[in-house]
Amino acid sequence: MTSETLDEHKKRLLALKAALLAAGDNPIEPAEDEGVISKPDEDAQPLVEMSQVIASSRNRARTLELDRILAALGRLEREPDSFGECIECGEDIAPRRLQLMPYVELCVECQQARDQPQGPSGRRHLRDFR
Ligand SMILES: [Zn+2]
Repeated sequence: MTSETLDEHKKRLLALKAALLAAGDNPIEPAEDEGVISKPDEDAQPLVEMSQVIASSRNRARTLELDRILAALGRLEREPDSFGECIECGEDIAPRRLQLMPYVELCVECQQARDQPQGPSGRRHLRDFR
């Protein structure tokens, strides 16, 4: 991978990181207009709790993505030579895949293998070939 390409990935990662950080925590409730005083409504309470749950799970997903971005930036700094290689098989990750998700750690094959662990049918298939 050329240093220009590495630089592009780094810029993209930094931009993603900045966007995630700028988004901040999702506001639980919209800001109230000045002059409008809303009195607490007991009926609305379950709804508020539900939206708090949704907001916190969104924040968790955001934190996970941020972790992957920071990890990728770390890899890029420490081992620029192996950046863009699959951490499982060491093959180069497809450039297009890397462009869409510069923080990706696995090539398509390894990702699929991880998503769909080979069940009994997969093993039978292998044995049939021997
Ligand atoms: Zn792989």
